[in-house]
Amino acid sequence: MSTHTVFRLQSQGSHHNIKQHAEPIPTVEPHEILLKIRGISLNYRDLAVANGTYPFPVKDQVIPCSDAAGEIVKIGSHVEGLKVGDRVVANFDVTNLFGPQKDWNHGHGAPIDGFLREFAALPASAVTKIPEGAKLSFAQMSGLVCTGVTAWNALYGNIPLKPGQTVLFQGTGGVSVTGLLLAKAAGARTIITSSSDDKLAYVQKKYGADYTINYKTQPNWAAEANKLTGGEGVDFILENGGSGTIKQSIDCIKMGGIIAVIGFLSAAKQEDMPDVAGLALSKGCIVRGITVGSKQLLEELVRFVVYTSIKMPEHETIVVVGAGVIGLSTALCIQQHLTPLQSVVIVARDFPNTTSINYATPWAGAHYRPVPGKTPQIVQEATWAKRTYDVFQHIATEEPAASGVQFLFGEEYLQKPSPEYLDAVADVSKSAYGHLLRGFERLSVDEIGNSAVCLGIRYWTYCVNSPVYAAYLLRKFVLKGGRTRAYTLVVPDEAFSLEPNVTTVVNCSGLGFGDPKSFIIRGQTCLVRNTCSKTITHQNSDGSWSFAIPRPLEGGTIIGGTKQPRDWNPNPMPEIRQTLLSNAAKWFPFASNGPETFDVVRDIVGRRPAREGGFRLEAEMVSVVGADGCNRTGNVIHAYGIGGRGVELSWGIAEDVAGLLLKKGIIMEKALL
Ligand SMILES: Cc1cc2nc3c(=O)[nH]c(=O)nc-3n(C[C@H](O)[C@H](O)[C@H](O)COP(=O)(O)OP(=O)(O)OC[C@H]3O[C@@H](n4cnc5c(N)ncnc54)[C@H](O)[C@@H]3O)c2cc1C
Repeated sequence: MSTHTVFRLQSQGSHHNIKQHAEPIPTVEPHEILLKIRGISLNYRDLAVANGTYPFPVKDQVIPCSDAAGEIVKIGSHVEGLKVGDRVVANFDVTNLFGPQKDWNHGHGAPIDGFLREFAALPASAVTKIPEGAKLSFAQMSGLVCTGVTAWNALYGNIPLKPGQTVLFQGTGGVSVTGLLLAKAAGARTIITSSSDDKLAYVQKKYGADYTINYKTQPNWAAEANKLTGGEGVDFILENGGSGTIKQSIDCIKMGGIIAVIGFLSAAKQEDMPDVAGLALSKGCIVRGITVGSKQLLEELVRFVVYTSIKMPEHETIVVVGAGVIGLSTALCIQQHLTPLQSVVIVARDFPNTTSINYATPWAGAHYRPVPGKTPQIVQEATWAKRTYDVFQHIATEEPAASGVQFLFGEEYLQKPSPEYLDAVADVSKSAYGHLLRGFERLSVDEIGNSAVCLGIRYWTYCVNSPVYAAYLLRKFVLKGGRTRAYTLVVPDEAFSLEPNVTTVVNCSGLGFGDPKSFIIRGQTCLVRNTCSKTITHQNSDGSWSFAIPRPLEGGTIIGGTKQPRDWNPNPMPEIRQTLLSNAAKWFPFASNGPETFDVVRDIVGRRPAREGGFRLEAEMVSVVGADGCNRTGNVIHAYGIGGRGVELSWGIAEDVAGLLLKKGIIMEKALL
């Protein structure tokens, strides 16, 4: 007998008590259909059932979740009007075909099993067919069941809403937002309340609320609603607060209006309990409890949503491809701007704590060296560097031990400084050094102590222990609710089908995917145990560079380094190690006796992901196939090819990527979580 996956709540108390089982796929009775479940919606009720606060009956070992959409895969012999392949939604209460709910014993996911499983056998009478051609995903369809019918019942279950009437929604939760969409599509005027200006701005922009009221800053929100309606009051209120808000609801309901009581989020103290009967009488209004609704209401709702083409809210996934310093910083920036219906997933071939020559981040020195110059690329990089410097300063102050970031002095000794360096030191304030915290100074001839060196400078900069820092970024991302997935993509568009409803893919893959402009710059360095109190860079007479980068948290010192474009040699070259160490012995203070005094930990070979013309930061729209097999358009934001400066430019780039997403309306100014 074939089995399917079923999740059951072993005991109430926590959603952690939900356990996976393999059980036989149900057989169908003559009047039943077998539903293959393709979409589930979560409601507050599901959490209450799991944690034991749901006040109505819950069966032992219940299968949670009341809302499901799916495809019919088998039909009982007596079923008419439905066929295999039909897309359907299941009614909340299996017995409630029309009229008010009859009892509390037949709702899915509490008194009877719900839909956290692959297949369910249901009476054919308990499902509603989604018309063919309807542009709704299974997730959107399932959202119609509890949230949708509740809102529809509030507006149409009694005296129906008419165009031009005014509806007030309390809060920006699922029922309010769904009700707002329905009321707008029906030609009503809408008012929505919240304690957060950001949430109000979001629902106004995204769902088109006509008016918003912040009940924190305007505690007498009823007076405000009366003002907005010229003193008449509103025709409908979706009452989510309960006893704590009902008085104000009655204060601003129109004579004869309807207050649909849905939630009980704000309870009044016993001594402040309003006299609802007296108040309702004074307005001749209807105060009506809503308990989801019948199959008849679900059918009406499905017709309305499908034929008015309302875009029902749906959870969205943003995929960041790449867990290098660019991908991790970008994912963290995006997390600050999510709506409650969005999440970020990092998909990558390599993650921190793994090593691959093609994963540049763990190999980075890394220190920050401002680069003077006037080309557009250098000017752009200077802007990113400045913003990154500020963020690193904050990180080094707040979490030095966890992050592996440390501020210290940097010194540079240049034997053949280019005109850009000389211009910069001539007018520091306007140069790439202008933003540095502890000023900037030219070293005196005595301090330089080497007649071959034409220019010596000192400034306050930072060093990063790259492997520690990458792990720190990943930890932060996960602790903020981010998810990760180890996967190697062939093309970025593939990411659209990896997770449900991926709207946006941010390509932080280092080299892009076969971009002909991308190339690698091989870097060979040497990690030694010898310590150094500052980061030092020396420009040699042949134009090559030597550097010493102390790795914070006693991570030794990186002696560098080479820049070898398009050199794919993966092996450390002994002669390069010899040159690096002998230069270091010559120039740097810790090894005056020659290379043999270095205590070498290991050679490092890494590939910097570079690109002709510089970093690619660009948005494009693509046609994609989603995880549900449906065609749609998606956003791809390319953010790759940073070459040898990824760490020191990372936060500036990440903020610009998030800025692009903000500009396109994909994320919000502030996270609304
Ligand atoms: C020796 C050396 C020294 C350096 N020193 C410094 C320094 O001092 N300062 C500084 O700022 N920078 C320095 N760098 C440069 C720095 O390391 C890079 O600029 C930076 O790490 C690039 O980050 P990234 O996120 O773009 O790429 P990467 O770190 O390479 O990350 C790319 C990510 O994309 C993923 N990916 C790629 N292709 C796929 C695919 N097909 N499917 C799924 N995932 C994929 C990878 O698995 C990885 O997670 C140095 C580099 C080297 C090698």
